[in-house]
Amino acid sequence: MTVGKVYLVGAGPGDPGLLTLKGRACLEKAEVVVYDRLVDARLLRYVPPDAELIYAGKAPGRHTLGQEAINALLVARARAGKVVVRLKGGDPFVFGRGGEEAEVLAAYGIPFEVVPGVTAAVAVPAYAGIPVTHRRFNDSLVIITGHEEPERQTRLSWDGLAPGAATLVFLMGRQNLAAICARLVARGWDAATPVAVIERGTTPEQRTVVGTLADIARRAAAAGVGHPAVIVVGKVVGLRPGLAWREEAPLFGRRIVVTRAAGQACGLAEALEASGAAVVEFPTIALVPPRDPRPLEAAVDRAGSYDWLIFTSANGVAMFCARLWARGWDGRALARARIAAIGAATARALRTWGLRADVVPQQYQAEGLLAALAGEELAGKRVLWPRAAVVRPVLATGLRARGAVVDEVVAYETVMPQTDGSSLRSL
Ligand code: SAH
Repeated sequence: MTVGKVYLVGAGPGDPGLLTLKGRACLEKAEVVVYDRLVDARLLRYVPPDAELIYAGKAPGRHTLGQEAINALLVARARAGKVVVRLKGGDPFVFGRGGEEAEVLAAYGIPFEVVPGVTAAVAVPAYAGIPVTHRRFNDSLVIITGHEEPERQTRLSWDGLAPGAATLVFLMGRQNLAAICARLVARGWDAATPVAVIERGTTPEQRTVVGTLADIARRAAAAGVGHPAVIVVGKVVGLRPGLAWREEAPLFGRRIVVTRAAGQACGLAEALEASGAAVVEFPTIALVPPRDPRPLEAAVDRAGSYDWLIFTSANGVAMFCARLWARGWDGRALARARIAAIGAATARALRTWGLRADVVPQQYQAEGLLAALAGEELAGKRVLWPRAAVVRPVLATGLRARGAVVDEVVAYETVMPQTDGSSLRSL
Protein backbone atom coordinates (compact mmCIF):
# COMPACT_ATOMS: atom_id res chain seq x y z
CA MET A 1 0.00 0.00 0.00
CA THR A 2 1.24 3.47 -0.82
CA VAL A 3 2.03 5.71 2.08
CA GLY A 4 0.04 8.93 2.33
CA LYS A 5 1.38 12.29 3.28
CA VAL A 6 1.13 14.56 6.28
CA TYR A 7 0.85 18.34 5.96
CA LEU A 8 1.73 20.28 9.09
CA VAL A 9 -0.37 23.35 8.45
CA GLY A 10 -0.45 26.61 10.36
CA ALA A 11 -4.05 27.75 10.85
CA GLY A 12 -3.16 31.29 11.88
CA PRO A 13 -3.99 32.90 15.21
CA GLY A 14 -7.80 33.01 15.13
CA ASP A 15 -9.16 35.18 12.35
CA PRO A 16 -9.96 32.57 9.68
CA GLY A 17 -8.91 35.04 6.99
CA LEU A 18 -5.31 34.60 8.14
CA LEU A 19 -5.04 31.04 6.83
CA THR A 20 -2.59 30.90 3.90
CA LEU A 21 -3.70 29.94 0.38
CA LYS A 22 -1.48 26.90 0.58
CA GLY A 23 -3.03 25.90 3.90
CA ARG A 24 -6.47 26.15 2.37
CA ALA A 25 -5.43 24.02 -0.61
CA CYS A 26 -4.24 21.34 1.86
CA LEU A 27 -7.56 21.38 3.70
CA GLU A 28 -9.43 21.04 0.40
CA LYS A 29 -7.65 17.81 -0.41
CA ALA A 30 -7.53 16.39 3.14
CA GLU A 31 -8.85 12.93 3.93
CA VAL A 32 -8.02 13.24 7.62
CA VAL A 33 -7.74 16.46 9.64
CA VAL A 34 -6.30 16.46 13.14
CA TYR A 35 -6.92 19.90 14.63
CA ASP A 36 -6.17 21.78 17.82
CA ARG A 37 -8.34 23.73 20.18
CA LEU A 38 -7.18 27.16 19.08
CA VAL A 39 -8.17 26.47 15.47
CA ASP A 40 -11.26 28.37 14.31
CA ALA A 41 -13.98 25.86 13.40
CA ARG A 42 -14.83 27.86 10.29
CA LEU A 43 -11.62 26.65 8.67
CA LEU A 44 -13.08 23.15 8.65
CA ARG A 45 -15.52 24.37 6.00
CA TYR A 46 -12.79 23.86 3.43
CA VAL A 47 -12.48 20.19 4.29
CA PRO A 48 -14.32 17.73 2.01
CA PRO A 49 -17.50 16.48 3.70
CA ASP A 50 -16.36 12.85 3.83
CA ALA A 51 -13.01 13.59 5.51
CA GLU A 52 -12.34 12.30 9.00
CA LEU A 53 -12.12 15.13 11.55
CA ILE A 54 -10.21 14.44 14.73
CA TYR A 55 -10.10 16.92 17.58
CA ALA A 56 -6.79 16.82 19.38
CA GLY A 57 -7.78 19.22 22.15
CA LYS A 58 -4.96 20.77 24.13
CA ALA A 59 -6.59 23.18 26.53
CA PRO A 60 -4.00 24.12 29.14
CA GLY A 61 -3.59 21.13 31.45
CA ARG A 62 -6.39 19.17 29.76
CA HIS A 63 -5.05 17.32 26.76
CA THR A 64 -7.74 15.43 24.91
CA LEU A 65 -5.18 13.42 22.99
CA GLY A 66 -1.69 13.21 24.45
CA GLN A 67 1.22 14.13 22.19
CA GLU A 68 2.16 10.45 21.88
CA ALA A 69 -1.34 9.61 20.73
CA ILE A 70 -1.31 12.44 18.19
CA ASN A 71 2.03 11.27 16.80
CA ALA A 72 0.78 7.69 16.56
CA LEU A 73 -2.40 8.83 14.85
CA LEU A 74 -0.52 10.82 12.20
CA VAL A 75 1.72 7.85 11.47
CA ALA A 76 -1.16 5.36 11.35
CA ARG A 77 -3.34 7.42 9.00
CA ALA A 78 -0.45 8.23 6.68
CA ARG A 79 0.49 4.54 6.57
CA ALA A 80 -3.09 3.80 5.58
CA GLY A 81 -2.41 5.92 2.50
CA LYS A 82 -4.33 9.00 3.62
CA VAL A 83 -3.72 12.66 2.95
CA VAL A 84 -3.48 13.95 6.51
CA VAL A 85 -3.60 17.58 7.57
CA ARG A 86 -2.28 18.36 11.01
CA LEU A 87 -3.87 21.75 11.57
CA LYS A 88 -2.20 23.75 14.31
CA GLY A 89 -2.85 27.22 15.71
CA GLY A 90 -0.58 30.00 14.47
CA ASP A 91 2.60 28.63 12.92
CA PRO A 92 3.28 24.91 13.39
CA PHE A 93 6.93 25.43 14.31
CA VAL A 94 6.45 28.27 16.80
CA PHE A 95 5.87 26.60 20.18
CA GLY A 96 3.37 24.28 18.60
CA ARG A 97 5.31 21.02 19.03
CA GLY A 98 5.22 20.83 15.26
CA GLY A 99 8.94 20.21 15.35
CA GLU A 100 8.39 17.08 17.42
CA GLU A 101 5.68 15.85 15.09
CA ALA A 102 7.93 16.39 12.07
CA GLU A 103 10.71 14.43 13.79
CA VAL A 104 8.39 11.50 14.37
CA LEU A 105 7.21 11.53 10.74
CA ALA A 106 10.79 11.69 9.52
CA ALA A 107 11.77 8.81 11.82
CA TYR A 108 8.99 6.66 10.36
CA GLY A 109 9.87 7.63 6.79
CA ILE A 110 6.52 9.31 6.22
CA PRO A 111 6.51 12.06 3.60
CA PHE A 112 5.49 15.41 5.04
CA GLU A 113 5.35 19.09 4.20
CA VAL A 114 5.24 22.10 6.47
CA VAL A 115 2.90 24.95 5.58
CA PRO A 116 3.91 27.87 7.78
CA GLY A 117 1.18 29.93 9.38
CA VAL A 118 0.72 33.44 10.68
CA THR A 119 2.01 33.22 14.22
CA ALA A 120 0.10 34.72 17.13
CA ALA A 121 3.39 36.14 18.35
CA VAL A 122 3.34 38.72 15.59
CA ALA A 123 -0.28 38.84 14.40
CA VAL A 124 -1.95 39.26 17.79
CA PRO A 125 0.10 42.37 18.68
CA ALA A 126 -0.54 43.67 15.13
CA TYR A 127 -4.30 43.37 15.62
CA ALA A 128 -3.91 45.26 18.90
CA GLY A 129 -2.10 48.08 17.11
CA ILE A 130 1.39 47.12 18.33
CA PRO A 131 4.17 46.71 15.74
CA VAL A 132 6.53 44.17 17.28
CA THR A 133 9.52 46.02 15.83
CA HIS A 134 9.99 49.69 15.19
CA ARG A 135 13.16 51.52 14.19
CA ARG A 136 12.78 54.10 16.94
CA PHE A 137 12.46 51.59 19.76
CA ASN A 138 14.21 48.28 19.25
CA ASP A 139 16.50 46.22 17.13
CA SER A 140 15.32 42.76 17.99
CA LEU A 141 12.28 40.68 18.76
CA VAL A 142 12.39 37.74 21.14
CA ILE A 143 9.58 35.21 21.25
CA ILE A 144 9.58 33.35 24.52
CA THR A 145 7.54 30.63 26.12
CA GLY A 146 6.03 31.80 29.37
CA HIS A 147 5.36 28.24 30.35
CA GLU A 148 8.68 26.53 30.81
CA GLU A 149 9.14 22.87 31.45
CA PRO A 150 10.18 22.72 35.14
CA GLU A 151 13.62 21.24 34.53
CA ARG A 152 14.52 24.11 32.19
CA GLN A 153 13.68 26.87 34.68
CA THR A 154 17.30 27.77 35.17
CA ARG A 155 18.08 28.15 31.48
CA LEU A 156 15.56 30.81 30.53
CA SER A 157 16.98 32.53 27.50
CA TRP A 158 15.61 35.94 28.35
CA ASP A 159 17.73 36.22 31.45
CA GLY A 160 20.63 37.17 29.24
CA LEU A 161 18.81 39.95 27.39
CA ALA A 162 20.02 43.48 27.82
CA PRO A 163 17.19 45.23 29.67
CA GLY A 164 15.00 47.26 27.33
CA ALA A 165 16.81 46.38 24.10
CA ALA A 166 14.39 43.92 22.53
CA THR A 167 10.62 43.61 22.28
CA LEU A 168 9.69 40.51 24.25
CA VAL A 169 6.66 38.47 23.23
CA PHE A 170 5.58 35.76 25.62
CA LEU A 171 3.29 32.96 24.51
CA MET A 172 1.61 30.67 27.03
CA GLY A 173 2.54 33.12 29.74
CA ARG A 174 -0.81 34.27 31.10
CA GLN A 175 -0.62 32.19 34.27
CA ASN A 176 2.93 33.29 34.97
CA LEU A 177 2.42 36.96 34.19
CA ALA A 178 3.27 38.25 37.67
CA ALA A 179 6.37 36.06 37.91
CA ILE A 180 7.56 37.08 34.44
CA CYS A 181 7.27 40.77 35.25
CA ALA A 182 8.96 40.41 38.64
CA ARG A 183 11.79 38.50 37.07
CA LEU A 184 12.38 41.10 34.35
CA VAL A 185 12.49 43.89 36.93
CA ALA A 186 14.90 41.83 39.03
CA ARG A 187 17.13 41.55 35.92
CA GLY A 188 17.29 45.31 35.55
CA TRP A 189 14.29 46.11 33.35
CA ASP A 190 12.69 49.46 34.15
CA ALA A 191 9.48 48.83 36.09
CA ALA A 192 7.83 51.53 33.95
CA THR A 193 8.37 49.51 30.72
CA PRO A 194 5.00 49.28 28.96
CA VAL A 195 3.34 45.87 28.76
CA ALA A 196 0.25 44.71 26.88
CA VAL A 197 -1.71 41.53 27.46
CA ILE A 198 -3.91 40.62 24.51
CA GLU A 199 -6.54 37.97 25.00
CA ARG A 200 -8.06 36.05 22.06
CA GLY A 201 -6.30 38.30 19.59
CA THR A 202 -7.56 38.57 16.00
CA THR A 203 -10.96 37.14 17.02
CA PRO A 204 -14.01 39.36 17.55
CA GLU A 205 -13.55 38.78 21.29
CA GLN A 206 -10.08 40.32 21.30
CA ARG A 207 -9.31 42.26 24.48
CA THR A 208 -6.23 44.27 25.31
CA VAL A 209 -5.07 45.41 28.71
CA VAL A 210 -2.12 47.78 28.92
CA GLY A 211 0.08 48.63 31.90
CA THR A 212 3.70 48.49 33.00
CA LEU A 213 5.94 45.77 34.36
CA ALA A 214 4.97 47.10 37.79
CA ASP A 215 1.20 46.94 37.48
CA ILE A 216 0.14 44.80 34.49
CA ALA A 217 -0.38 41.64 36.56
CA ARG A 218 -2.85 43.47 38.79
CA ARG A 219 -4.58 45.13 35.84
CA ALA A 220 -4.92 41.89 33.88
CA ALA A 221 -6.32 40.11 36.92
CA ALA A 222 -8.78 42.95 37.55
CA ALA A 223 -9.96 42.77 33.95
CA GLY A 224 -10.25 38.98 34.18
CA VAL A 225 -8.01 38.38 31.18
CA GLY A 226 -7.86 34.68 30.43
CA HIS A 227 -6.46 32.26 27.88
CA PRO A 228 -5.14 32.38 25.20
CA ALA A 229 -3.15 35.55 25.64
CA VAL A 230 0.00 37.09 24.28
CA ILE A 231 2.16 39.31 26.48
CA VAL A 232 4.17 42.06 24.80
CA VAL A 233 6.88 43.88 26.74
CA GLY A 234 8.63 46.92 25.34
CA LYS A 235 8.35 50.52 24.24
CA VAL A 236 6.48 49.54 21.07
CA VAL A 237 3.42 48.99 23.29
CA GLY A 238 3.31 52.78 23.63
CA LEU A 239 2.50 53.07 19.90
CA ARG A 240 -0.91 51.48 20.44
CA PRO A 241 -2.94 54.67 20.97
CA GLY A 242 -3.84 55.71 17.46
CA LEU A 243 -2.82 52.41 15.88
CA ALA A 244 -5.47 50.18 17.51
CA TRP A 245 -7.22 49.82 14.14
CA ARG A 246 -9.04 46.65 14.97
CA GLU A 247 -10.57 47.61 18.30
CA GLU A 248 -11.56 51.00 16.87
CA ALA A 249 -13.53 49.43 13.98
CA PRO A 250 -17.13 50.68 14.13
CA LEU A 251 -18.78 47.33 14.94
CA PHE A 252 -15.99 45.91 17.11
CA GLY A 253 -17.36 44.13 20.17
CA ARG A 254 -20.82 43.72 18.62
CA ARG A 255 -22.27 40.29 18.02
CA ILE A 256 -24.65 40.19 15.09
CA VAL A 257 -26.94 37.38 13.99
CA VAL A 258 -27.39 37.14 10.22
CA THR A 259 -30.66 35.45 9.38
CA ARG A 260 -30.34 35.31 5.60
CA ALA A 261 -30.60 32.03 3.74
CA ALA A 262 -27.45 29.88 3.81
CA GLY A 263 -25.28 30.63 0.81
CA GLN A 264 -26.63 34.18 0.60
CA ALA A 265 -25.29 35.43 3.91
CA CYS A 266 -21.60 35.50 2.93
CA GLY A 267 -21.44 38.99 1.46
CA LEU A 268 -23.28 40.55 4.38
CA ALA A 269 -21.37 38.52 6.96
CA GLU A 270 -18.05 39.49 5.40
CA ALA A 271 -18.94 43.16 5.32
CA LEU A 272 -19.98 43.07 8.99
CA GLU A 273 -16.83 41.20 9.96
CA ALA A 274 -14.72 43.68 8.07
CA SER A 275 -16.25 46.33 10.33
CA GLY A 276 -15.18 44.35 13.37
CA ALA A 277 -18.42 42.53 14.26
CA ALA A 278 -18.68 38.94 15.45
CA VAL A 279 -21.13 37.33 13.06
CA VAL A 280 -23.31 34.33 13.83
CA GLU A 281 -24.96 32.94 10.73
CA PHE A 282 -28.38 31.61 11.61
CA PRO A 283 -30.50 31.17 8.49
CA THR A 284 -34.19 31.56 9.27
CA ILE A 285 -35.30 30.98 5.70
CA ALA A 286 -34.26 28.58 2.99
CA LEU A 287 -35.12 28.85 -0.69
CA VAL A 288 -36.64 25.88 -2.46
CA PRO A 289 -38.04 25.39 -5.97
CA PRO A 290 -41.81 25.87 -6.25
CA ARG A 291 -43.91 22.92 -5.09
CA ASP A 292 -45.64 23.01 -8.45
CA PRO A 293 -42.94 23.81 -11.03
CA ARG A 294 -45.26 23.70 -14.04
CA PRO A 295 -46.28 27.39 -14.21
CA LEU A 296 -42.62 28.46 -14.17
CA GLU A 297 -41.71 25.89 -16.81
CA ALA A 298 -44.59 26.97 -19.02
CA ALA A 299 -43.58 30.62 -18.65
CA VAL A 300 -39.99 29.79 -19.60
CA ASP A 301 -41.24 27.88 -22.64
CA ARG A 302 -42.96 31.00 -23.94
CA ALA A 303 -40.29 33.39 -22.67
CA GLY A 304 -39.76 34.78 -26.16
CA SER A 305 -43.32 36.07 -26.33
CA TYR A 306 -43.07 38.62 -23.50
CA ASP A 307 -42.59 42.37 -23.91
CA TRP A 308 -41.30 42.83 -20.37
CA LEU A 309 -39.59 40.66 -17.78
CA ILE A 310 -39.75 41.96 -14.25
CA PHE A 311 -37.45 40.67 -11.51
CA THR A 312 -37.86 41.64 -7.89
CA SER A 313 -35.10 39.49 -6.38
CA ALA A 314 -31.79 37.91 -7.27
CA ASN A 315 -33.42 34.59 -6.40
CA GLY A 316 -36.11 35.09 -9.01
CA VAL A 317 -33.39 35.76 -11.57
CA ALA A 318 -31.45 32.64 -10.56
CA MET A 319 -34.47 30.34 -10.62
CA PHE A 320 -35.81 31.67 -13.92
CA CYS A 321 -32.48 31.74 -15.75
CA ALA A 322 -31.42 28.32 -14.45
CA ARG A 323 -34.64 26.93 -15.86
CA LEU A 324 -34.02 28.74 -19.16
CA TRP A 325 -30.59 27.17 -19.45
CA ALA A 326 -31.88 23.76 -18.42
CA ARG A 327 -34.27 24.14 -21.35
CA GLY A 328 -31.23 24.49 -23.63
CA TRP A 329 -31.65 28.21 -24.22
CA ASP A 330 -29.86 31.38 -23.21
CA GLY A 331 -30.41 35.14 -23.23
CA ARG A 332 -31.17 35.15 -26.97
CA ALA A 333 -34.53 33.59 -26.15
CA LEU A 334 -35.40 36.90 -24.44
CA ALA A 335 -34.22 39.08 -27.32
CA ARG A 336 -37.42 41.07 -27.76
CA ALA A 337 -38.19 41.57 -24.08
CA ARG A 338 -37.18 44.56 -22.03
CA ILE A 339 -36.06 43.87 -18.50
CA ALA A 340 -36.74 45.65 -15.22
CA ALA A 341 -34.93 44.86 -11.96
CA ILE A 342 -36.07 46.08 -8.56
CA GLY A 343 -32.57 46.99 -7.36
CA ALA A 344 -28.84 46.80 -7.80
CA ALA A 345 -28.44 43.25 -6.44
CA THR A 346 -31.09 41.95 -8.82
CA ALA A 347 -29.44 43.79 -11.71
CA ARG A 348 -26.10 42.22 -10.74
CA ALA A 349 -27.70 38.79 -10.72
CA LEU A 350 -28.97 39.42 -14.25
CA ARG A 351 -25.49 40.43 -15.36
CA THR A 352 -24.11 37.04 -14.31
CA TRP A 353 -26.41 35.53 -16.94
CA GLY A 354 -25.34 38.07 -19.56
CA LEU A 355 -28.52 40.11 -19.23
CA ARG A 356 -28.75 43.86 -18.77
CA ALA A 357 -31.56 45.51 -16.83
CA ASP A 358 -33.13 48.32 -18.87
CA VAL A 359 -34.87 49.79 -15.84
CA VAL A 360 -33.62 49.93 -12.23
CA PRO A 361 -35.49 52.31 -9.91
CA GLN A 362 -33.90 54.75 -7.48
CA GLN A 363 -36.02 53.37 -4.69
CA TYR A 364 -35.65 49.57 -4.37
CA GLN A 365 -39.34 48.80 -3.76
CA ALA A 366 -42.41 47.84 -5.78
CA GLU A 367 -43.58 51.46 -5.62
CA GLY A 368 -40.20 52.62 -6.90
CA LEU A 369 -40.35 50.17 -9.77
CA LEU A 370 -43.81 51.36 -10.77
CA ALA A 371 -42.56 54.93 -10.72
CA ALA A 372 -39.55 53.99 -12.85
CA LEU A 373 -41.89 52.43 -15.41
CA ALA A 374 -44.14 55.51 -15.46
CA GLY A 375 -42.84 56.66 -18.84
CA GLU A 376 -43.38 53.29 -20.55
CA GLU A 377 -46.41 52.43 -22.66
CA LEU A 378 -47.68 49.26 -20.98
CA ALA A 379 -51.23 48.99 -22.37
CA GLY A 380 -51.67 45.57 -23.96
CA LYS A 381 -48.06 44.63 -23.20
CA ARG A 382 -47.29 41.11 -21.98
CA VAL A 383 -45.34 41.12 -18.73
CA LEU A 384 -43.75 38.13 -16.99
CA TRP A 385 -42.94 38.39 -13.28
CA PRO A 386 -41.10 35.34 -11.87
CA ARG A 387 -41.41 35.93 -8.15
CA ALA A 388 -41.45 34.52 -4.63
CA ALA A 389 -44.54 32.61 -3.52
CA VAL A 390 -45.52 35.34 -1.08
CA VAL A 391 -45.36 38.96 -2.26
CA ARG A 392 -47.25 42.21 -1.84
CA PRO A 393 -49.85 42.64 -4.59
CA VAL A 394 -49.00 46.29 -5.27
CA LEU A 395 -46.72 45.69 -8.27
CA ALA A 396 -49.05 43.41 -10.24
CA THR A 397 -52.06 45.60 -9.41
CA GLY A 398 -50.24 48.71 -10.53
CA LEU A 399 -49.11 47.15 -13.82
CA ARG A 400 -52.59 45.83 -14.58
CA ALA A 401 -54.10 49.24 -13.82
CA ARG A 402 -51.99 50.52 -16.67
CA GLY A 403 -53.32 47.91 -19.08
CA ALA A 404 -50.49 45.37 -18.90
CA VAL A 405 -51.23 41.65 -19.16
CA VAL A 406 -49.25 40.27 -16.24
CA ASP A 407 -48.21 36.64 -15.81
CA GLU A 408 -47.13 36.09 -12.23
CA VAL A 409 -45.36 32.78 -11.75
CA VAL A 410 -43.89 31.38 -8.57
CA ALA A 411 -40.17 30.91 -9.20
CA TYR A 412 -39.25 29.85 -5.66
CA GLU A 413 -40.66 29.41 -2.20
CA THR A 414 -39.21 30.19 1.20
CA VAL A 415 -39.40 27.63 3.98
CA MET A 416 -38.05 27.18 7.50
CA PRO A 417 -34.59 25.67 7.18
CA GLN A 418 -33.69 22.43 8.92
CA THR A 419 -31.43 23.30 11.84
CA ASP A 420 -30.14 21.65 14.95
CA GLY A 421 -29.58 25.04 16.53
CA SER A 422 -25.83 24.51 16.74
CA SER A 423 -25.05 27.89 15.22
CA LEU A 424 -26.97 29.60 18.02
CA ARG A 425 -25.30 27.62 20.74
CA SER A 426 -22.31 29.93 20.65
CA LEU A 427 -24.47 32.96 21.42
N1 SAH B 1 1.97 27.90 17.20
C1 SAH B 1 1.25 28.99 17.80
C2 SAH B 1 1.55 29.15 19.27
C3 SAH B 1 1.17 27.94 20.08
S1 SAH B 1 1.43 28.19 21.79
C4 SAH B 1 1.52 30.28 17.03
O1 SAH B 1 2.45 30.34 16.24
O2 SAH B 1 0.77 31.22 17.20
C5 SAH B 1 -0.16 28.78 22.29
C6 SAH B 1 -0.04 30.20 22.75
O3 SAH B 1 -0.13 31.07 21.65
C7 SAH B 1 -1.15 30.63 23.68
O4 SAH B 1 -0.87 30.27 25.01
C8 SAH B 1 -1.08 32.13 23.53
O5 SAH B 1 -0.01 32.67 24.24
C9 SAH B 1 -0.76 32.26 22.06
N2 SAH B 1 -1.96 32.45 21.24
C10 SAH B 1 -2.39 31.68 20.24
N3 SAH B 1 -3.50 32.20 19.67
C11 SAH B 1 -3.75 33.33 20.33
C12 SAH B 1 -4.75 34.33 20.23
N4 SAH B 1 -5.71 34.28 19.31
N5 SAH B 1 -4.71 35.38 21.08
C13 SAH B 1 -3.74 35.48 22.02
N6 SAH B 1 -2.79 34.55 22.15
C14 SAH B 1 -2.77 33.51 21.34
